[in-house]
Amino acid sequence: MTKLRVCVLGSTGSIGVNTLDVMARHPDRYELFALSAHSRVDELAQQCLRWRPRYAVLPEAAAAADLRRRLAGSGVEVLDGAAALAEVAAHPEVDVVMAAIVGAAGLAPCLAAARAGKRLLLANKEALVVGGALFMQAVEEGGATLLPIDSEHSAIFQCLPEARERWASTIDHIVLTASGGPFRTREPATLCDVTPAQAVAHPNWVMGRKISVDSATMMNKALEVIEARWLFGLAPEQIRVVIHPQSIIHSMVVCRDHSVLAQLGTPDMRVPIAYGLAWPERIASGASALDFTQLAALSFEPADARRFPGLQLAWDALAAPQGSSAVLNAANEVAVAAFLAGAIRFDQIHDVNAHTIDATRPEAGEAATLAGLLGLDARARASAEARVRELAA
Ligand code: NAD
Ligand code: MG
Repeated sequence: MTKLRVCVLGSTGSIGVNTLDVMARHPDRYELFALSAHSRVDELAQQCLRWRPRYAVLPEAAAAADLRRRLAGSGVEVLDGAAALAEVAAHPEVDVVMAAIVGAAGLAPCLAAARAGKRLLLANKEALVVGGALFMQAVEEGGATLLPIDSEHSAIFQCLPEARERWASTIDHIVLTASGGPFRTREPATLCDVTPAQAVAHPNWVMGRKISVDSATMMNKALEVIEARWLFGLAPEQIRVVIHPQSIIHSMVVCRDHSVLAQLGTPDMRVPIAYGLAWPERIASGASALDFTQLAALSFEPADARRFPGLQLAWDALAAPQGSSAVLNAANEVAVAAFLAGAIRFDQIHDVNAHTIDATRPEAGEAATLAGLLGLDARARASAEARVRELAA
């Protein structure tokens, strides 16, 4: 079997490390062609020495120079800069790109991989939320295979027919499950006292800090609603959300005949990662199998809008002019970073998001190009940062 050459963007993160874990179980199928990370040079150096990829990429020159020194004589070439990320993602020798960067920073390399027709494993939901129609057009024009890694979207994908042209006639609506995060039962009036450490302590999943905060506000689910709209070509009203605290059902498709298909499993991201890597085949993921005799109950409840005011912003953004999702995402990235830095309170994340959406109007055509979207993203960030300063004063 010819091995697939894989490029892992964001290799030092939670998804990146899990991807390498699955790949290590199948050395006959995959080889690592390139790695990238942002700042954790120690971890990246260790990964390079273990895997000996052709390239390692860091956005900043100083960190790259440091890594170059450490890897001298290893045969790994260290590249730096944003352009290098897009270059390795689109490299002619790459078969598979795992997009596991967090935030809009991953959009440009995702577009490059899509345009180059790669098998693109998308964990980086923010890239699709920001890119929207432009992203999907790049996938189509480049002939890329876009495979969802987000557990909910992988679940939906696993429940759908293999022939994409049958999706529209199959789906009545989809139901994205949400754990409800660490504050599902907390009194909403006390959310102002939440600390960053409490917010990142997710009950069911171990994840990066940003997505963990997003899970606590349910902005993660809002981003996933927008992600689902693009991945599955759905109307916003075809996307519903239900809280399912056990995180065993990863999401459901309700078909035209109201038959419901669900995908279940232990909460372990190696399952969707293994499916993305091997699709349409199945390979061992390292995740343990569900033990149904140990499952006490599977329960469901609606999301409380008082506790999770940000969830509705997804449908609002989808109903607003194109580019509104990019504004929402940028605001949320700024707000989460400000909360984690101790500048604003947990409940003020929603204030920053709502304020930024009101203050930043996308201009006509702005969402149609990468340059336009990056400009819009920058304007939204500036507006969100101004709001953070007001709140912190
Ligand atoms: P993480 O914070 O653990 O890792 C992020 C990775 O991206 C790191 O390797 C970091 O070095 C790199 N990175 C950060 N900023 C960068 C920048 N500006 N330029 C280049 N690289 C940068 O995050 P994670 O939990 O692994 O999540 C990654 C993505 O996957 C996010 O979009 C998240 O929403 C999505 N996702 C994660 C999970 C999960 O279980 N962790 C589940 C579903 C979806
Ligand atoms: Mg998810």
